[in-house]
Amino acid sequence: MSRRVIGFHYTLTDKAGTVIDSSVGDEPLVFLENSHQIIPGLEKVLVLLNVGDKRKIEVKAADAYGEINPEMIIKVKRTQFPPGANLQVGDQFQVNEDAHSPVFTVTELGADEVSVDGNHPMAGKDLFFDVELTTVRNATEEEIAHGHAHGAHGHGHH
Ligand code: ZN
Repeated sequence: MSRRVIGFHYTLTDKAGTVIDSSVGDEPLVFLENSHQIIPGLEKVLVLLNVGDKRKIEVKAADAYGEINPEMIIKVKRTQFPPGANLQVGDQFQVNEDAHSPVFTVTELGADEVSVDGNHPMAGKDLFFDVELTTVRNATEEEIAHGHAHGAHGHGHH
């Protein structure tokens, strides 16, 4: 089955209406369908739209970046950090080299222990999108092989 590349403009707000992110004034975001490039709650609506369609889409946390997982909020002994590490609240680090391993954020500094949170910063948040579909085209062989879209016009990047 052929897969499509879909492009859209979006403005993302939280429950209070504060803008978190927007593509307006920039390039639209493009994604390859069924490749987990965008959050599932958004993709399942976008795939049904036609170019020019506008929608308001509410995505519950579970369908966006997931609920907050308390097991990902952990305390780590200071001795487990490199000696002389000048830890600050808000510092982020990955436990291993894998690009897909969770990013931990330092949330609290104790005398002997450091609290870190490995949840996605958007975990637990319901998201509100204003979207406008800008392009729909068939994916190229190369995009399907790479598992992601290569820009609205099919050029640019590796
Ligand atoms: Zn690629």
